[in-house]
Amino acid sequence: MIGEKNIIVTGGAGFIGSHLCDELVKQKANVICIDNFISGTRGNIEFLLQQPNFRFVNHDVSEPIDLESLPELKNFHIGAKGIQEIYHLACPIAYKDYSELPLETIITNSHGTRNMLELAVKYKAKFLLASSSAIYGEPLKNIKYFKEDYWGYVNTIGARSSYNEGKRFAESLTYNYGLYHNLNTKIIRIFQTYGPRMRFNDARMIPDIIRSALAGEELVIYGEEGVTTSFMYISDLIDGLLKAMVAEGNIVVNMGHPKEIMVEEAARIIKELTESNSQIVYRESPQYILKHGLPDITKAKEILGWFPLVDLKSGLSKTIEYMKAQQGLLGI
Ligand code: NAD
Repeated sequence: MIGEKNIIVTGGAGFIGSHLCDELVKQKANVICIDNFISGTRGNIEFLLQQPNFRFVNHDVSEPIDLESLPELKNFHIGAKGIQEIYHLACPIAYKDYSELPLETIITNSHGTRNMLELAVKYKAKFLLASSSAIYGEPLKNIKYFKEDYWGYVNTIGARSSYNEGKRFAESLTYNYGLYHNLNTKIIRIFQTYGPRMRFNDARMIPDIIRSALAGEELVIYGEEGVTTSFMYISDLIDGLLKAMVAEGNIVVNMGHPKEIMVEEAARIIKELTESNSQIVYRESPQYILKHGLPDITKAKEILGWFPLVDLKSGLSKTIEYMKAQQGLLGI
């Protein structure tokens, strides 16, 4: 029963983490959200702070943590009940973070992942790592869909290495802790996800295009004309993460929307939904933007019975509503 569990969500004040905390709180788990607000915000979890089964701990996961000494967690009786599940999502992720926060990114992926794995060992908790399609790198010429058995093509140095290599190391650490300590681990390779609570100004594709459309500015697409990718709506990912946590054994699975879509098509839908007159323009891709491969989700379908359900137009519509409301609130 999920309602009897103590569950940790690191990075819980971020985009994905806040939606996950919301769902776990609804399912009556005791949720411990650990975040240092390096890229998340208090606003993302404000609505949860009054819930009796939600606790926020302001902490950098790169440092070890003694949960049983924290007064704010007293009512969760961790000493007696332990921790049953850890969702480890903490990591700066936006493109601009790679240049501004390279060391924080790689250290969170390495030391932070180790500290959270140590907690999993201590409490014999299940451990889910939010990994990324970035571990595959850019698709080589003959590859369009990434399968889990592909080892990737990644540069250890360069503009994105703190993130790409950081995630690869985090996966390897999780895998080896699983073997050595007999831990129950789930490695989820997340592909591009969008939805409400993404940051406005962090150079991620969908919020960038929506913000520009609302402001009447050019809708900039990075890359060659006709560039394609795929977009998964947040509720589909949350459903997948919950399914993965209860799955049998140690698993490694892709989660993403398998449908290839031209970025220009997404921009056209955004133009239509925002009733914007903005022009769509193409610009040369900066180094930090990865050319995306698509997810092969056969494995997730087979072992989790999971596949995304939300179509792009509905997802974009909800995201635009949120961004409009935020702009109203923030007066921007
Ligand atoms: P986000 O930036 O919105 O959330 C990350 C959260 O982690 C933030 O709240 C941030 O403050 C927190 N954090 C970062 N370093 C920390 C540290 N050292 N200690 C404590 N908290 C820390 O990003 P997101 O989109 O919600 O991504 C969540 C996870 O999913 C990340 O691990 C990311 O790599 C992975 N992922 C996301 C996507 C996507 O499309 N959004 C794709 C692939 C993988």
